[in-house]
Amino acid sequence: MDLYSGYINRLISELSVLPGIGYKTAQRLAFHMIHMPKESVEKLANAMVEARSNVKYCSECYTLTDNDLCPICANPSRNHKMIMVVEGTRDMTAYEKTGKYDGVYHVLHGAINPSLGIGPNDIKLSELLKRLQHDVDEVIIATNSSIEGETTAMYISKLIKPTGIRVTRIASGVPVGGELEYIDEVTLARALDARVEL
Ligand code: ZN
Repeated sequence: MDLYSGYINRLISELSVLPGIGYKTAQRLAFHMIHMPKESVEKLANAMVEARSNVKYCSECYTLTDNDLCPICANPSRNHKMIMVVEGTRDMTAYEKTGKYDGVYHVLHGAINPSLGIGPNDIKLSELLKRLQHDVDEVIIATNSSIEGETTAMYISKLIKPTGIRVTRIASGVPVGGELEYIDEVTLARALDARVEL
């Protein structure tokens, strides 16, 4: 027997597929939405649909952006010969906040993780290699210090080495993953300054 209306059940089940949202939270959110003003719910729904429909990959660095080129790639005063490789758009934001980096980025959207079946072809790696056919002085690998991040860094450096392009790795000690956005800017800037040759 369904205790709720079919609509509420459907809403709960759609919300439950989101990361970190279990059944109880989904239930709480669903009831909250039912009691919200109709216009607010429409605003929320539209924001989701519009973000999903309009956000795309930057055609250069593959970060998520609204235009063909993200503001960093479109900026002629950035050093386009220096590319910092990061796992995600949020990592890029963290480095950008230091204000100490004037190069451009490349966003992989993940890291190599054999145990999850994520290989080199599942991240934006061939796109990076394509960019290296242009004039590039240095690739700074700023993947996380997790096993996956290190594996990815080693893999990339082996691919780039033969091209003669300088490959560096940000200093270790920078914590892993989603935490990057919480690290203070001074620490990140220091990790960048203390990068080592690979
Ligand atoms: Zn870009």
